Amino acid sequence: MPATRPATPAANRKSHTPLLDVHDLFKHFPVRGGLLSRVRNQLKAVDGVSFSLGAGKTLGLVGESGCGKTTVGRTILRLIPATSGSVLFEGHDVLSVDRHTLRNLRRRMQIIFQDPYGSLNPRMTVQQIVAEPLYVHGMAKGQVLRDEVSALLKQVGLRAEAMNRYPHEFSGGQRQRIGVARALALKPAFIVCDEPTSALDVSIRAQIINLLQDLQQAMGLSYLMISHDLGVVRHISDEVAVMYLGKIVEQASTEALYGDPRHPYTQVLLSAIPVPDPKLRASRAPRVRALDRDDNVPSPINVPAGCAFHPRCPLYAAKGRPVECRTLMPELLPRKSDRSHAVRCHFTDDSAMAGG
Ligand code: SF4
Repeated sequence: MPATRPATPAANRKSHTPLLDVHDLFKHFPVRGGLLSRVRNQLKAVDGVSFSLGAGKTLGLVGESGCGKTTVGRTILRLIPATSGSVLFEGHDVLSVDRHTLRNLRRRMQIIFQDPYGSLNPRMTVQQIVAEPLYVHGMAKGQVLRDEVSALLKQVGLRAEAMNRYPHEFSGGQRQRIGVARALALKPAFIVCDEPTSALDVSIRAQIINLLQDLQQAMGLSYLMISHDLGVVRHISDEVAVMYLGKIVEQASTEALYGDPRHPYTQVLLSAIPVPDPKLRASRAPRVRALDRDDNVPSPINVPAGCAFHPRCPLYAAKGRPVECRTLMPELLPRKSDRSHAVRCHFTDDSAMAGG
């Protein structure tokens, strides 16, 4: 991530008070087929995910496309219904509260979407887009509303003149700033950032990440940063969770996860980060190739038995295909040497583990 600022030291951020507590979250989608459209199978998009997030903190959620990370974000906000589990936010279970309470909670829980082109209504002016949540929740009208929109645009680095223009008149980065202004309108405490930079040019990404960091410092926001870009996640997150086929396979502080990744999947993902040094790149190539074999990519509808990663796992192959990897799903357990670092692997602290 060139041109981004140094990551905000965790010590400078707000308290560790848990703001969000996700417990055993499941989201399965029925797969229908046949003439009568009967349920034939279940797509296990989210399969028992648990984590908590403190006020003013950022949790990065990473993994390949289709691993379930976006579904986690949307299920937490109840944009899609969960199959089971609980999501405690400021003392309320988001998944079971009534409509009135949910409406109030939604003021405090917002989302920034991946696609700054598709997420803004092209027929609405910027003023209408940013003002909409304030208007819908009856929080401002008339000149107060216009002043509020003007202040929000200023907060995200746009001029007040932008109010009367339409989304197509702006660049991708500017559109994402409009999306951020809309998310901030109701003064939330928590924002799901769903791949907020992946549709942007590399040169613009750092600006948006810096903006999110500045807003976090100014407003004490908590972020769930969903991304497949491990560089972005490393820069902004206090803690990182790695997902594979609906489950968290490793979770640790950013420093521990990037400095000492213990799960073979995390190691492969980190190996795939572009490295300018050709010697280092060559040393990482075998692991990358192990993940690129498309014929080994399992389907979330037909998850492999045992450890779901075993058909692609370099350590499984290196260890002579141990039977437990094929038959037993490992639990997500804290490491003996670092209780805040959890790994889902039968050989977590194995000294023979590749890389690390
Ligand atoms: Fe690989 Fe086995 Fe660990 Fe799964 S449990 S990550 S297959 S070594």
